[in-house]
Amino acid sequence: MTETPAAVENVIILGSGCAGLTAAIYAARANLEPLVVMGVEAGGQLSLTTEVENYPGFPEGVMGPELIDRMRRQAQRFGARFVAGDANAVDLSSRPFAIQIEGEPHRTRTLIVCSGATARMLGVPGEKRLLGHGVSTCATCDGAFFRDQEVVVVGGGDSAMEEAIFLTRFARRVVVVHRRDELRASKIMQERALANPRIEFLWNTYLTEVLGGNQVEAVRLWNHETDERWEMKVEGVFLAIGHVPNTEIFENQLRMDAQGYLVPKDPGRSLTDVEGVFIGGDVHDHVYRQAVTAAGAGCRAAIDAERYLERVGEVSQPTAGATSR
Ligand code: NAP
Repeated sequence: MTETPAAVENVIILGSGCAGLTAAIYAARANLEPLVVMGVEAGGQLSLTTEVENYPGFPEGVMGPELIDRMRRQAQRFGARFVAGDANAVDLSSRPFAIQIEGEPHRTRTLIVCSGATARMLGVPGEKRLLGHGVSTCATCDGAFFRDQEVVVVGGGDSAMEEAIFLTRFARRVVVVHRRDELRASKIMQERALANPRIEFLWNTYLTEVLGGNQVEAVRLWNHETDERWEMKVEGVFLAIGHVPNTEIFENQLRMDAQGYLVPKDPGRSLTDVEGVFIGGDVHDHVYRQAVTAAGAGCRAAIDAERYLERVGEVSQPTAGATSR
């Protein structure tokens, strides 16, 4: 018996963070009935944060998971479909594109990649438990919650310097904890951070534990040169040790930079070198990394996918009951 091939989707969207869900809202309202693959970290990085105060339209702030839930329901209302799990493999050399989702074969005319980037974590005790409760991976998002408090920033790259400088606007004391005695950050960022009298540096030092009940209260530190170990009282721990873009399955299929971030065909657009594949959000943006910029990029990708399908004249008819725009 021959197997019936999977129906061909108009659009498969990889990722259910801000970018993927915004792409889903736009694609669904264009009657494309997108299929959203939710990914291992369903809801993306916002689902790991607590309060979001910088997303337009929420003057009182909104909890990250709630914002994501609202976006998901908005996409569902217009006919977006969701599948739990992750895409395991993709073949962009065939048309329609072939994609394995949790081992199941799927086919699609267009693919919108919003699989995001995952903030690197230290892997020390207390860190995961207190994420969103004093531990943060984004100073721009959470800095304002630490007014007049003491915080540490872990890392020695551009992100760590940028975050430390930003945090001096709010925090009473900002201490950079770096594992070496030399920064990785660009000269200009190093100079700015080192010249800032409100930033202190702990060199050759590892953060080995985050302490606290419901909220961060202190960190354990270890200087591996002197072998000194001590506790420091802090209210905030900002991790700035890099991000890993979720792009493994696109190796040798889509253009990437040295860190693995996808590269668009033209700067500022969502198109890639492969016609019919579009990108949005942190998977191609290591500069802004904001919920609102990711949402904007998701919107762009959906509009480009819709225009592409219209141009090649390949849209399949919506099933009965799908909402029209
Ligand atoms: P990065 O350059 O990879 O730096 C990561 C830092 O974290 C390094 O100092 C590294 O230490 C440290 N680190 C990594 N794993 C660690 C661990 N397990 N324990 C302790 N420390 C650890 O990452 P990034 O700063 O996020 O920057 C990523 C890219 O974005 C870079 O190309 C950067 O230039 C760019 N960027 C630019 C700007 C800007 O221009 N304004 C702002 C942000 C980011 P080692 O140094 O010892 O390896």
